[in-house]
Amino acid sequence: MRYDLLIRGGEVVDPGGGHAGRLDVAVDRGRIVAVAANIPESTAFQVIDAAGQIVTPGLVDLHTHVFHKITYWGIDPDPVASTSGVTTWNDAGSAGAITLPGLREFIVDRANVRITAFLNISNIGLVGENHECANAAYLDVDLFKRLADRNRDLVLGVKVRMGTPTVGANGLEPLRLARRAAEECELPLMVHIAFGPPEIEDVLTLMRPGDILTHCFTGLTMKIVDDEGRLYDFAKRAWDAGLVMDIGHGTGSFSFETAEALMATGRRPDVISTDLHQLSINGPAYDLPTCLSKFLQLGMSLSEVIRASTARPAEVLGIERELGTLRPGSHADIALFRLLPGRFPLYDIAGEMREARNLLVNTLTLVGGRPLDRLPPASPAPWAEDPVWPAAQTPFTEKQKTLRALGHDPVSLRAAAESEAPE
Ligand SMILES: [Zn+2]
Repeated sequence: MRYDLLIRGGEVVDPGGGHAGRLDVAVDRGRIVAVAANIPESTAFQVIDAAGQIVTPGLVDLHTHVFHKITYWGIDPDPVASTSGVTTWNDAGSAGAITLPGLREFIVDRANVRITAFLNISNIGLVGENHECANAAYLDVDLFKRLADRNRDLVLGVKVRMGTPTVGANGLEPLRLARRAAEECELPLMVHIAFGPPEIEDVLTLMRPGDILTHCFTGLTMKIVDDEGRLYDFAKRAWDAGLVMDIGHGTGSFSFETAEALMATGRRPDVISTDLHQLSINGPAYDLPTCLSKFLQLGMSLSEVIRASTARPAEVLGIERELGTLRPGSHADIALFRLLPGRFPLYDIAGEMREARNLLVNTLTLVGGRPLDRLPPASPAPWAEDPVWPAAQTPFTEKQKTLRALGHDPVSLRAAAESEAPE
């Protein structure tokens, strides 16, 4: 009896499964069956040589938008997955109660990757750019509950966006309703923060341990640090009590200044996610390995950033027994990476640059034991070709074009580093 597949000789980094070091990974019928040293090649029908590479569980991105062609922010996850190692995509609120059946039929059932969802408290979800919670008629907890209960396999949490452009004159009311939906459905609540009002302290007062604060390292007005970079006491209490701090990089939400201030005091994000959408996919978020490279540069270890993008988000979603780990019995979702040495300029959303000494680049991604074909990037949606976002800031596309012109996007950085590397 032979295994379907053996991934040999790689450096395994699997914090959730407790594996680390030079180990082989055996796969059979879509599941991990063994992780051990020196499993003979003869035991498998197919062998992948992973020498010199890092082998991790397929990455779990807690904050993405994959409802493409139907919502403003949505992108097709498959091309990105095939070059980034992200095998589980949690869609953070693109669908509301009215559009959830479409998310399942048109996106989830057709994708090569696994998709889970946080259902938006607004029943129209993120069809448009903003304002989904500005009209109280769209906030219907009973309808939310009906859809969540009929789709428990797909809906793993509640999403609400707090900030002036989304809630309008409704203030904290959408959050109170999302809180009620989360309690009644026994689901975690993810809250987005950006431009207030509401005030961050009032938002955190309505959140509970196990809930997720996304965009936690934002530099915008709802940030969790004061202007000197000190963590507010109320934020410290919430974090220490078990609030999950999630990066959600996006186009408005990752600031090196905030990150450095917090990490200087020993704080680490619980989860590193991209908030990948029609705009952030063009930089400086780009993809999850690029975001992880920023946290390597900020001082987290490889094992820490992999935990924050596998085991930890899987726990938040309640899927940690089968995903985000290489533990035998779990799904054979696996990612291979190289850690390229060099000098890599990486940027935050304000255009601040830090030079990283390593770039994490994906070389192969497997879902259920099957390698994904590497697909070319999808074309941007017409409205993303020249967006003005956020309205109060300079057109973001100008910064994105500049990064490409400089050759500071991950594809160019990788090509340059590989051409310099000695064979
Ligand atoms: Zn988002």
